[in-house]
Amino acid sequence: MKWSESIKLNIRMLKHLFKASPGYCIVNAVNTVCDSAFLIVRTLFYKNIIDVVVYSKEPMEYVIVIFLIYYLLMAVSYSINFRIQNNFNEKEKIRIAQYYKNLICGESIKKSISNFSDREYADRLHNAAYSDGEHLYSFAGFIFDFVNGVVTFIFFFGLFIELHPVFVLVAFMTAVKNIICAAKTNKAQFKKYQTDLMFERHNRYLYNLFYLKQYAQEMRMYPIAVHFVKKFKLLKELHWKSKKKSEYQIRYIETLSGITDLFFYLLSMIILVYFLITQKITVGEFSIVITNLTLAAGNIQRVLMFIPNISNEARYIKDIFSVIDREDYVYPEVRNTDGQEKAVFKNVSFSYDGENPVLKDINLELPLRGKTAIVGKNGSGKSTFIKLLLGLYRPTGGEIEYSYHDAYKCNTLQLFSTLLQDYKVFALTIADNILQKGAGEEEHTYNLGIKEALQFSGLLEKVERFPDGIDTVLSGEFSEDGICLSGGEQQKLAIARAYAKNNPVLVLDEPSGNLDPIAERALIDKINKLAEDKAAILVTHDLVYTKNVDLVLVFEDGCILEYGSPEELLREKGYYYRMMSERSKLEGIV
Ligand code: ADP
Repeated sequence: MKWSESIKLNIRMLKHLFKASPGYCIVNAVNTVCDSAFLIVRTLFYKNIIDVVVYSKEPMEYVIVIFLIYYLLMAVSYSINFRIQNNFNEKEKIRIAQYYKNLICGESIKKSISNFSDREYADRLHNAAYSDGEHLYSFAGFIFDFVNGVVTFIFFFGLFIELHPVFVLVAFMTAVKNIICAAKTNKAQFKKYQTDLMFERHNRYLYNLFYLKQYAQEMRMYPIAVHFVKKFKLLKELHWKSKKKSEYQIRYIETLSGITDLFFYLLSMIILVYFLITQKITVGEFSIVITNLTLAAGNIQRVLMFIPNISNEARYIKDIFSVIDREDYVYPEVRNTDGQEKAVFKNVSFSYDGENPVLKDINLELPLRGKTAIVGKNGSGKSTFIKLLLGLYRPTGGEIEYSYHDAYKCNTLQLFSTLLQDYKVFALTIADNILQKGAGEEEHTYNLGIKEALQFSGLLEKVERFPDGIDTVLSGEFSEDGICLSGGEQQKLAIARAYAKNNPVLVLDEPSGNLDPIAERALIDKINKLAEDKAAILVTHDLVYTKNVDLVLVFEDGCILEYGSPEELLREKGYYYRMMSERSKLEGIV
């Protein structure tokens, strides 16, 4: 990557840091300057007291007092640093993490489901989502390091050169060695990080299987665990194979660096002892070099590593921005046309894997008013058709055009309310599970809206019996007295969610799936009532639902087999007629 690009990426991250916490930048910048000044004062003070102790005839009390002053200085500088590093910075890092999560979550949702089929995107998103925003403050850290490095480098350079140029040479050699090692290690680290990404994502899935309550039942009833343990072993072996080279490289460099450090240390010791014996330096100077040589080398290194460090960091930042900069998923547009409420499917086909078509050349004018039922065998493509209609997936062939009379419904997200088969209930309050409170919305009207939705789905009576009502937390994940709802109740919650969204077209995929017959009957009545002022499109295997609808679509093998009102389809005596007859026979037996 070019330097200019690295710097641009780092500055972009720094701008985010400034937005997240301007205090972090200002306080740490001031602290860096003060810390460098403090270090200089302390070091000079230390050198002088050692020489006072060894060479002067000052009384013991005087020596004790200057030692105390020295330790007081140390204590003040450490405690300021400690408070900033552990108190202020840690608090600010929570704020920064919150900002970062908001950014990543917001952005990843905008990219929508369609991007998840891209593996590289999934790996990067996984990594970005698991990070706590550390990359936000890394560039600021390099700048602070650089400033501190320059100030202290100038100081030590002056100090060492005054004693003997050989100390500057040793410090330089150590620094250059460290820079070469760091450059090699960084490259290997980044390679390792890239191979870690996919493994981490798979590993977390496996970990969730053993940890999450929702899998516990199946994991106990069926001997699946053993397969996943095998899978884990396989993944671990594969992962090791792919990162082995980088891992060995890192360890090899570390060992080599350690051996060279030892050599430099011995070399400087020999020189120092020789200078001390030949009285070229004082004990204070001996002590200052021995304690600060590594520090001085570190400072040279920090100054020289500034550019390599930011280019290394830019590689990671680029990954995060590749998630943020990914094009937003644009939901299909809805045309505002007076008196026309329809979705027109023109030669629409769809395939999940690019090979096997799940929907084949569908031509259809689907009214977005009244009630429509979609029936057909399992796997015939009904749910896929619904996802395409909602705009969650784009057709792989052909197109869908939407028209609706309401100018405020600009895209499919604003047009449809949905209850899909794979709905999820979250570890939040019941109210938050149904609808997020809008900005400026009054508590009273919000609560009324939630209650109306619960009333519609038939869950209100139960919820009102909970001591915290609609503020009851679901699941024990975050709250010890979190409530567990039954499968049917969870579905009612999802129905309430669809109702509360209050969009003009309600789309329900198998809404009676988990409901008992009484609840099912009640739901049919409600959908019928609802469809008086809203449109309803429902996928169902239960033909009871289809009796009072305006239109029935029969799906078979990715195509529309029959299309018409229930009366028309019964007259045609096709598939729908046969299914209805079977059902009537069954009812007769019961
Ligand atoms: P239905 O709702 O009529 O039961 P679906 O639309 O769910 O049918 O599924 C139609 C076909 O598409 C099935 O053969 C299924 O295997 C396949 N399918 C469904 N969802 C996915 C998916 N996310 N990825 C790949 N294939 C899928």
